[in-house]
Amino acid sequence: MKHPTILTLLFAIGLIQPTASPTHMQDPAAKIDFNTEIFHAVLEGLYDDGVSNETADLLLRKQDDGAYTHFISGCPTCVYVLEALRHYRARPDFVSFKMTRNTWGLGLDKGSRERLKSEHMKVRIDVLHTLVTRWMDKRMDRLRLNKRERKAWHSELKRRAKKGMGLLTDKRNVAQAELWADLACPSCEGAVAASVRE
Ligand SMILES: [Zn+2]
Repeated sequence: MKHPTILTLLFAIGLIQPTASPTHMQDPAAKIDFNTEIFHAVLEGLYDDGVSNETADLLLRKQDDGAYTHFISGCPTCVYVLEALRHYRARPDFVSFKMTRNTWGLGLDKGSRERLKSEHMKVRIDVLHTLVTRWMDKRMDRLRLNKRERKAWHSELKRRAKKGMGLLTDKRNVAQAELWADLACPSCEGAVAASVRE
């Protein structure tokens, strides 16, 4: 019987690992948890912008049946944007400062706040679209994504947008389809718009 070499013994006891495939060969999207990335992008954005509770409530507007007006139920991007908003809205005050505060920025500009009060859905969701684009773009900048990685984000966000909008054609979603007639999902499209920025 052939004696094992030192090298095969080291492999066997786990002291050395087989060589990983080169980074450029790996799928850049494979190691990304897009669900938490979207959630963190929005949560960071809300804190950075210092969105007020009044504004958060306008974004979290509900229908009579309890569904969130500005989000497509079951959409894989909307879910995480909505959850980040809900968590932000429930945030506690910071306890380490002399003045009571619970966020960082100074709040959204007056124009955006006013547009969120509009009776027209399109006007309101345009504000959400702009916010999601800015927050996702900021997150991608912070992560210092290279062109290839941004492309991977773009593909995934497009896939989610397609799935989200596809839900509106489901016959079981009549109420949602009526509400969203001729409208595009602001969370989905806002995220996709961020991913095409350089
Ligand atoms: Zn969506």
